[in-house]
Amino acid sequence: MIAIKVHRSVWHPLTLVALMAVWLATFGNWPFWQALWRLPELQGATWPSTLALGALLLSVNFVFLGLSLLGPWRKLLGVVFLAASATTTYFMLAYRVVIDPTMIANALHTDAREVRDLLSIDMLWPALWGFVLPGVWWWRQDVRPLSWRRAAWQRLLFVAIAIVLTVIAGRLAFQDLASTMRNHKSLRYMINPYNTVYALAQLGVGRAADVSKPLVSVGEDARYTGAVGLAAADAPLLLVVVGETLRAANVGLAGYARDTSPELSPLKASGELVYFDKVSACGTNTQVSLPCMFSPLGREDDRDAQNLENLLDVLQRAGLAVTWLDNQSGCKGICERIPHLDTGGLSDPALCSQGECFDEILLAQLPGQLQKLEPSRRARGTVAVLHMMGSHGPAYFKRVPQARKHFLPECTNQALQNCELSTIVNAYDNTARYTDHVLASLIQWLKQQARPSALLFVSDHGESLGENGLFLHGMPYAIAPLEQTHVPMVMWVSPAWQSRAGLKTDCLAKKAGQPYSHDNLFHTVLGLAQVQTQARNKNLDITEGCRPGT
Ligand SMILES: [Zn+2]
Repeated sequence: MIAIKVHRSVWHPLTLVALMAVWLATFGNWPFWQALWRLPELQGATWPSTLALGALLLSVNFVFLGLSLLGPWRKLLGVVFLAASATTTYFMLAYRVVIDPTMIANALHTDAREVRDLLSIDMLWPALWGFVLPGVWWWRQDVRPLSWRRAAWQRLLFVAIAIVLTVIAGRLAFQDLASTMRNHKSLRYMINPYNTVYALAQLGVGRAADVSKPLVSVGEDARYTGAVGLAAADAPLLLVVVGETLRAANVGLAGYARDTSPELSPLKASGELVYFDKVSACGTNTQVSLPCMFSPLGREDDRDAQNLENLLDVLQRAGLAVTWLDNQSGCKGICERIPHLDTGGLSDPALCSQGECFDEILLAQLPGQLQKLEPSRRARGTVAVLHMMGSHGPAYFKRVPQARKHFLPECTNQALQNCELSTIVNAYDNTARYTDHVLASLIQWLKQQARPSALLFVSDHGESLGENGLFLHGMPYAIAPLEQTHVPMVMWVSPAWQSRAGLKTDCLAKKAGQPYSHDNLFHTVLGLAQVQTQARNKNLDITEGCRPGT
């Protein structure tokens, strides 16, 4: 029998640190170098400063890895860094997103079905080359045993030299590149693994601060000022429909060349429905937008909305019936203190499969959910929030029932880079058209109720569909393109509500061209629900001036 001796290298620990530093600075930062290379202002004579930038990244890696890849942590942390850089590299290359704190927050709050939508067979190769092969290699390497005194001394010297190198390379690189990095802020969020480390640290600090803070109440003086003593079936019903990822640019009501609003357009033409033309979102992803929409704080308010009660708490305090129906990845904490229903567990054979439902499920579940609310509250009025799946990407094709797909062929691959742009737009436009159908069906249902009713729809943020090579959403707000922040908003008020509450649709239509934003939602809904409180700013209520006595 022949004994086979497997040769395994035994490294000096700092050599391994250096190898990892080189890997992360080069292959691990492929998207960053590619983005830098493509900048028009770097075409030509900037080789020396680009090299200096490479040296800077390398020496920062020496410092960071020299201080973190220690003793028993070396293998595990190395694999974690490789996994983080391979994953973010894939998403940056495939979708041109950048990795900032809100993107990571969104990733941490995502659910299994969202993850399933993002995973694709295309991830196999990047995972193999960026993570599996280097990861296995890394895990198998052994280091030479050194006395702790000697190891500590050498490591300190290594880190000290790396710090000096960092300072020198930083000065050289930033003489030329400081303005470039300032002009292209998104580049900062492309540097692996510091984008992820920075985002997690930011969120960790934020969360630790949140946990220690008690919930601050809002509108303690809230009171209902409308008619009392109504039968529950006669009291007003307001539906607040929160759209998902629907951008104004692709909405027929907004003048899009394609007819993505075949059912709502006639209502607008007959003056029954108002489309608001210039509405901007509070954030560029659900995690930011949703709490902000329901908060009394505006987008530019620095205070943290997380520890503050929201619109639904105020409505509930005023004695109204309030509920939240969710056909998405949850209400991000907004509905915690009110009755809510998640469609995730439903098994409606016509509308749901594999734990996911089409948005018509919201209408199917609505009557039953309303019945469950307390009758004494319902007598004052009901506000129900419907949170849609809408145009949630990248698997747009999954959002629309087969029979309602109008624009074909559509992209049926979740890795959008494998599809022709026109098929991606087709799939997206089908979701816009399906949202139109869902909203029209809700209005149709409201029309059949004798009670005064109204519907207010607004999308949480927009979406990039290949403009400047960008896809999806979540760009930092300051540099986000209009496609991600300009959202559609629609209001419909029943004739019974118009006559009883005196709210005139034609008056609202005159205001439809004014600039509004998510900041208006809190105050407008309180106005519609006839709830008085100090927390309400009437200047932000869109219906102000269109109701008697205002
Ligand atoms: Zn969203």
